[in-house]
Amino acid sequence: MTPGALEHACPQCGAPVELADTAALFDCPFCRARLAIVHGGAPALYLPAHTDAETAVYLPYWRLRGIVLSADIPGVRGRLFDASLAAHQVPNTPATLGLRPQAMTLRFVEPHTPGVFLAPTASASALRRAQTAGEGRISACLAESTSLVFLPVTAQNGRLVDGISGDDLGPVPEVLASPKQSYTPTLSFQAALCPQCAFELAGDAASRVQICHHCQTVWEVTAQGVVPCTARFAPRAEETVDVWLPFWSMEVRTTGFSLQTWADLVELAGLPRVVQPWMRSRAFQFRIPAFKIRPELFTQLTQQATLSPLAAEPLPTLPQDPLFPVTLAPQEAARILAVVLVALSPARKRLLEHIRGGRIQPVAYAVEYLPFVRTPTELLQLDLNFALPVSALTWARSL
Ligand SMILES: [Zn+2]
Ligand SMILES: [Zn+2]
Repeated sequence: MTPGALEHACPQCGAPVELADTAALFDCPFCRARLAIVHGGAPALYLPAHTDAETAVYLPYWRLRGIVLSADIPGVRGRLFDASLAAHQVPNTPATLGLRPQAMTLRFVEPHTPGVFLAPTASASALRRAQTAGEGRISACLAESTSLVFLPVTAQNGRLVDGISGDDLGPVPEVLASPKQSYTPTLSFQAALCPQCAFELAGDAASRVQICHHCQTVWEVTAQGVVPCTARFAPRAEETVDVWLPFWSMEVRTTGFSLQTWADLVELAGLPRVVQPWMRSRAFQFRIPAFKIRPELFTQLTQQATLSPLAAEPLPTLPQDPLFPVTLAPQEAARILAVVLVALSPARKRLLEHIRGGRIQPVAYAVEYLPFVRTPTELLQLDLNFALPVSALTWARSL
């Protein structure tokens, strides 16, 4: 087993299958079942207890992995993070899970999983706030994954014992004297079939966007199931496309300042561009990478893609070339809008004053694919004149 991976018995044939804990689909290599993983809420995983799994009490922790981006007058900074924080108030227990989720094999919590699971009493937003504290004037915490990870503890002769390390945690606290299950698992599986024509959906198992080549439709795998997704494609500069990289295109509504058209953007951000007539009528949209990549490349790519007037259109026939997996949820991408705005601006001080106290919210989103061609070391977007090291994407997929 790969440390940090997830092991789950195939719902169809029962074979143990290893998958990434961020996977959208469950692909069984034994019986070829292809199932959408429908979490219902936040994905719930647990660290298996070494002993006494039946009598263990499982304590909830929020685990977030992703990037923190912060913007201030000097510019935008980013860093990676992987953190966990107790979502319970049981005394004497670990405040975080430390490196355990990275080092161990995780499992999904299911209705029949033995043990007593306690419901979280805190939301994941406290953990987000902790990540961005003191990070600059405007900051955002984008999580590629937000999950509940349960840690087992057991009671032995009146003492509380960490079910993984075996450490003595002190006397059994009052709240755990007679624990009752209060967390209800919401995991289910759904055949990865097109909801419109029942043809098998195509796409990488990691990708939350899947396509139907039969009826030419695009679908998003969300926590609630498979739902329709609007997809647009930028024009090909060349016949060959080696990979289409996905972006979340977002239309926004603002309060306190105006950002409806390209002309609004040029004025608000103080861009060194002359306002052309088309800029007054064309709606402005953000374009945020829908996949994970190093923070500095994430910011660069967001700026280049957002500032490009390259229009993407729906296609009557979906391309057969590879579509890079969408691994970032649109709700996460939406967190970064204000940071992007600051990053785009050469006049940040003025912009920060303008947007202070205002709000920016997404009103609609679509996935937009931009075509890239590959050289031995780089992926090139010819219209944007942007080059991405090939290694940056391998990294993005393996993390
Ligand atoms: Zn199977
Ligand atoms: Zn279909």
